[in-house]
Amino acid sequence: MFSLNTPIELLTRVGKTTASRLKNLGIATVFDLLYNFPFRYEDYSKIVNIRDLKPGEAVTIKGKIVLIENRRAHRRRMTITEALIEDDTGSIKVIWFNQPFLTKNLKPGDDIFISGTPEIERLTLQFVSPAYERSTQFDSLNTAKIVPIYSLTANLTQKQIRFLLSQALRSVNLVEDWMPPEIREKNNLMPLPQALSQIHFPNNQEQMALARRRLKFDELFLIQVSSQILRQFLAQAKAPQIQFKEKEIKSFVSSLPFTLTNDQKKASWQILLDLEKSSPANRLIEGDVGSGKTMVALIALLNTALNNYQGVLMAPTEILAVQHFKSISSFLKPFGFKIALLTGNEKNIFGQDKMKKQDVLKLIKTGEINIIIGTHALIQDEVDYQNLGLVIVDEQHRFGVEQRKKLKDKNRNGLTPHFISMTATPIPRSLALVLYGDLDLSLIKEMPKGRKRIITKLIEEANRQQAYQFIRQEINQGRQVFVICPLIDESDKLGVKSVTAEFKKLAEHVFPDFRIGLLHGKLKSAEKEKVMNDFKNNEINILVSTSVVEVGIDVPNASIMMIEGADRFGLAQLHQFRGRVGRGEYQSYCFLFSENFSQKTRERLSALVKSSDGFALAEYDLKFRGPGEVFGTRQSGLPELNIASFNDLELINLAKAEAHNFFEHYSLADFPLLKNKIEQSKMINHLE
Ligand code: ADP
Ligand code: MG
Repeated sequence: MFSLNTPIELLTRVGKTTASRLKNLGIATVFDLLYNFPFRYEDYSKIVNIRDLKPGEAVTIKGKIVLIENRRAHRRRMTITEALIEDDTGSIKVIWFNQPFLTKNLKPGDDIFISGTPEIERLTLQFVSPAYERSTQFDSLNTAKIVPIYSLTANLTQKQIRFLLSQALRSVNLVEDWMPPEIREKNNLMPLPQALSQIHFPNNQEQMALARRRLKFDELFLIQVSSQILRQFLAQAKAPQIQFKEKEIKSFVSSLPFTLTNDQKKASWQILLDLEKSSPANRLIEGDVGSGKTMVALIALLNTALNNYQGVLMAPTEILAVQHFKSISSFLKPFGFKIALLTGNEKNIFGQDKMKKQDVLKLIKTGEINIIIGTHALIQDEVDYQNLGLVIVDEQHRFGVEQRKKLKDKNRNGLTPHFISMTATPIPRSLALVLYGDLDLSLIKEMPKGRKRIITKLIEEANRQQAYQFIRQEINQGRQVFVICPLIDESDKLGVKSVTAEFKKLAEHVFPDFRIGLLHGKLKSAEKEKVMNDFKNNEINILVSTSVVEVGIDVPNASIMMIEGADRFGLAQLHQFRGRVGRGEYQSYCFLFSENFSQKTRERLSALVKSSDGFALAEYDLKFRGPGEVFGTRQSGLPELNIASFNDLELINLAKAEAHNFFEHYSLADFPLLKNKIEQSKMINHLE
C-alpha cells in the first residue's frame, strides 16, 4: 500500500515518460490520481448471453475465443484483427483495427470479456473495436462494469489510468474525511474514502450518484466556507478612504477619444463610491469581451493615484500585463505618474526600460511608484508597498482571504486595500449571486458604440478552401487572422488539430507567402511575448494559437477568428475567442471548423452564430450541457470546479446554507481537518 504522497513514479508500470505525461495533467502523487475524476462513464455492467445481444445496446459478454487472427486490408493500409467469441448460447464476430499485437496477447481458448455496443454489419451482429479483458484476471477494470473515462492528453490511455487508479485506490482509506461529521450525517453524505472509490469504479448507478453528490458538495462547501471566512475578515478590516477627485476624473473622461458607455459610467461610479468607504471594497465587474473593462479599471487606478495611494493591476498572464501596462501608461501619460511593470520576467518603469528589478522593488516600497501592473509576481514575498489602496485583478476573481492578508501585511500603511476583480466570463447574475452571495456585482452589458457585429459561420470541410480564399483576400487588404486549435500535442487520439501541425500546414502548404506565428503555453514567456508583439505590430499575418489567447488580447487590426475543433469548446469560451476580433473599425468574421459536425454540435454552435450576447450564451450552455456531461472544464475567472458544475443550483444552495450554519454554531479552530483543507485549496491556482 502506498502513502497518499507517494510519487506516481513508484507505481507499477510508470516510467519516466508516463510520469511526465501524468504531470502534465497535474498528477504527481497517489492523492492526485484519486482526485483526478472521470468525466464520464461507459456502463458495461450488464452481462448478457451472446444469444440475447441487441444492436445499439452497450453490454458485456463473457465468452471464449474460438479463433483470432490478423489480416491486412491493403486498400485501406491497415491491419484488421478478427476474432470469433462464443459462449453457451452462440457466437459473435469481433474486429479491431490497427492493433496487430492483439493476437500476441489473446489466444484461442482464452476466457474473455468483451464490452461494447454490437452493430449490425451485413445482416449479422458484430462488435467493432470493443473493450476486452481476460475474464480469468482478478478484477476487471475495463470491461464488465461501469467503466470510468478520463480526460487525457496524448499518449496516455484509459487502460493505463484505470490500472494506476486500481493501485492508488488501495490507499483510499488513508484519505481523512475532513467534513464535520454533523454536516455529513445531516445531509446524507457518503464517507469520503468510499466516495473516492465509487467515483472511479462505481458498483452501480446509485453509488455513482451518491459519490458524485458527496464530492460536488465538498467542492461547493469549501467555496462557501472560504467566502464566509473572507466576509468575516472584510467585516473587521480597515481600508483607506479614497476621495472621489471629481474635477480631475471628469476632465480625464472628457479627454478620452470616445465616450464611456452608460454601463462603464455606472461601474466606475460604483467603484468610486466603494473607494470612499473605510471597509474594503469587494466587487466583481462582469463584462463581455470588448466591453471596455480596462477603462473602468483605469479610472479607479487614476483616482487612487490622485489620492496618493498606490494601485495595483494584476493580470493572469504576462502578455496581458504588458498590454495593460502599455495602454494604461499611454492613457495616463499627461498625469506624470510613475507606472511600473512587474512580472516574473519583466520589470520596467514607464520610460526607463533597463531598470533593475531590485530598484523597481525599492521604488514600490518607498511609494515613488504610483501604479504597478503585473502578474501574480505582485503578491510575492519580495514586493512591499508603501501605501497600497486598491488592487484590481483582471480575468480572475478567486482571490481569497490569504492573498488579501498577504497584501495587507505587505502594505506599510497597515491597511487592507480595496479589491476589485474583473471577468469576461458571463456568469448569469442569478448564479453569481448564489456562488458569491456576498460580493458586490457590476455588470457591463452594453458594448461601445460603433462595434460591428461579428459574422459567425460554421464551415463545412467541403468549404475549407473557399474559407482560405477569403482569408487570403482579407490579408491582402492588410487584415490579420487568428487560428485557434484545441491542443498542443501531435498524436491526439481524437484527431483534433494540433497547433504545431496546423502551423506547419498553413505555413508550408496553404499560405506559404504569408508570415505565420505560433503561440502556445509551452513557449517561454519571452518567446510568447515576441510572437504577440510581432502580431500586434502586424509583422505576422496569421497567428496560430492554443487557447492562451483566450483572455484579453487586443489587436484591432485582426478581423478573422478561425477556430479548429470548435466542437471541443464551450460556447462561452468560443464567444471569448470571437471577442478577440471586431475590436477595430473593420467588419470581422468568426469561422468555426470541426471534423465532426454532429447534429447536436451543429445545434449548439448555431447558438453562437445567432447570438452575440455572452450572458445568453452562457445560460444556453448551462442548460444544454446536462449534468453528467463535461464536468471538468476550466472556466476563466470562475473557481475551478473539478466535479461540481454551475448548474448544480440545489447543491450550491445547500452548501451555502451549511456553511452559514457551520459558522453560527462552531468555530473553525475545532475542526483542524477542515481548516487544513481550506488552507490547501489554493485560491489563485490558475494564475500560473
Ligand atoms: P475588455 O472588457 O474585454 O477588457 P477592453 O478594455 O480591452 O475590453 O476594451 C476593448 C477596446 O475598446 C479597447 O481598445 C478600448 O480602448 C476600447 N474602448 C473602451 N471603452 C470604449 C468606449 N466607451 N468606446 C469606444 N471604445 C472603447
Ligand atoms: Mg480585458
